[in-house]
Amino acid sequence: MKLVQESIEGSCSILLLTTEGIYASRDKYGRTPIVIGKKNGSYAVAMDTCAFPNLEYEIEHYLGPGEITLVKPEGYQTVAPAGDKLKICTFLWIYYGYPASSYEGINSEVVRNRNGRLLAKNDDVVIDSVSGIPDSGVGHALGYAHEAKVPYTRSFVKYTPTWSRSFMPQHQKKRDLIASMKLIPVKELIDGKKLLYCDDSVVRGTQLRDIISRLYNCGAEEIHMRLACPPLVYTCKYLNFSRSRNEMDLAARREISKLEGGVCKNLEAYTDSSSECYKKMVNNIREGLGLTTLKYQDLKSMLDAVGLPHENLCTYCWDGKE
Ligand code: SF4
Repeated sequence: MKLVQESIEGSCSILLLTTEGIYASRDKYGRTPIVIGKKNGSYAVAMDTCAFPNLEYEIEHYLGPGEITLVKPEGYQTVAPAGDKLKICTFLWIYYGYPASSYEGINSEVVRNRNGRLLAKNDDVVIDSVSGIPDSGVGHALGYAHEAKVPYTRSFVKYTPTWSRSFMPQHQKKRDLIASMKLIPVKELIDGKKLLYCDDSVVRGTQLRDIISRLYNCGAEEIHMRLACPPLVYTCKYLNFSRSRNEMDLAARREISKLEGGVCKNLEAYTDSSSECYKKMVNNIREGLGLTTLKYQDLKSMLDAVGLPHENLCTYCWDGKE
């Protein structure tokens, strides 16, 4: 298992059931988590700590990067110690982690609230209400609303019972259809209003464009969008993350290519939120989406919201740094 983890470049958590017990092996840089839970002398292993409370397990041990642990009914022992380099996926807290889960001991909903507060701190936009694009935008939007002292409304509600997670189907058209069918606008909360929405990120921008046109159709006067992370400039090469596999599908990449005359160059400048290139790119994305204003969270504030040392967090999606 150690050899496998050393050979794999991305993340692959392994659980191996043997007659001795369960071997749990976390990837070399801990991009995805593994945690051991305990109740009355029995043990469980999961990626998400939200699996534990309703089964009456308590969090017992977060495996470190590259750690291999043997879990038996009577206890657990580390058979390969953790390495010293951690690069956990920041997107766990920003987007795909479950609100009731903690990673490295840090709860994802608490991070989203903190991130939303930081987004609101330097914002002076005048609005009637704040809403989150369900589900992953909600925690950020609640934090924003509390900090800005503006009412939080559920102007878009999510109907989930028959729809699975929209990033799971491999076909983009099916993903878009599911995403769109799940969200139902509440006209009474939208008509004639200046609205601010928080969402986790913009990948291709198609879903967001659809949401924005539906909001204008319901009579929205102004639509301001605040995103919980910086523009996505690179696709993930570590996880089997199917939101976008092609870099040129990314909304930011498409704008960079247009601004650079058909080629994607000077990428570093576009990841610096103080540069003119970055400002032009964001403004073009805003125009393309038909938004009144658009702001992305800056990298430092997002990492501060998570609260781990910055060098322990993977930021490849945003800055291309390994
Ligand atoms: S590249 Fe992005 S999605 Fe992939 S592990 Fe790093 S932060 Fe997570």
